[in-house]
Amino acid sequence: MIDNKKINYNSSAALKTFLKEEGLGMRKKFGQNFLINPVTRQALINTLDCNAENDVWEIGPGLGAMTALLLEKGLYVRAFEIDTGFIRVLKEIFAGVKNFSLVEGDVMKTWSSQEPAQFLLGNLPYNVAAVLLADLIEKGRLFTRIVVTVQKEVALRMTASAGSPEYSSFSVLCASAYTVKPLMVIRPSSFYPQPNVDSMGVLLEKKASPAQQIPPVFFPLVRALFASRRKTIKNNLTVFLSSIFGNLQNVCTPLLRENGLTGNERAENLYFESFFSLAKYIENMRK
Ligand code: SAM
Repeated sequence: MIDNKKINYNSSAALKTFLKEEGLGMRKKFGQNFLINPVTRQALINTLDCNAENDVWEIGPGLGAMTALLLEKGLYVRAFEIDTGFIRVLKEIFAGVKNFSLVEGDVMKTWSSQEPAQFLLGNLPYNVAAVLLADLIEKGRLFTRIVVTVQKEVALRMTASAGSPEYSSFSVLCASAYTVKPLMVIRPSSFYPQPNVDSMGVLLEKKASPAQQIPPVFFPLVRALFASRRKTIKNNLTVFLSSIFGNLQNVCTPLLRENGLTGNERAENLYFESFFSLAKYIENMRK
């Protein structure tokens, strides 16, 4: 049995020794960078702002540094981990802890069969971060609050507003369900091993009245309008509409006009509301 009080989560040297003793290594392909800064770990958990007995999903618990803090708060923690070595350690550390359950394997494949939770926390592996968040939103698996650390470049896309260079289909996706706020920048020295780039904490709070029902065509439409960033929305929209309606003439112009658009705009300048009203209109046309 491994006593997690004996793992020094704050020291890269101590973690290195622990991993060696356990016959484990860090795997780059799983985006493994432990957050060794205790102040940042605690700040992220405080921002999640949840109470005892709330359910929380933790993505990528690693050796359980944040997991232990969540369990100390009396939360029900469902942790998703892919690394078989870490899974063995987690099972030993949290053996018999009734509030803890572990979902083994690739979270992209395992999450959909799990009971929903109110909160999500994760120092996310860089290779999965954006696709996982997009997948959860598109499939309607929403949380009251999400606190994640991601590469700064991903965080800037998540928090970008219309008109900024970082604004992308991912920004619109996040804004469709959440108010997204940047937290702190986390420097490479806060991790073991140190990544090459800065990371950032991000808070996503479910919108009080999420934009009515998101029409099914919304997400494909947003992607299509950003498909060629340099093209006008009329060009991108024409391609998208013909994929739905075939080569019907004169669908695009009235659609744009009805939604107060000229067609010369670019997706990077459209607010969420414009994407939403276009999607609603297209959905009605399909009926
Ligand atoms: N939570 C720990 C911390 O903050 O120190 C570790 C975070 S580390 C950046 C990312 C973690 O996600 C690793 O434990 C890694 O093995 C795990 N991971 C990577 N890809 C995964 C996937 N597809 N499904 C589940 N876990 C994954």
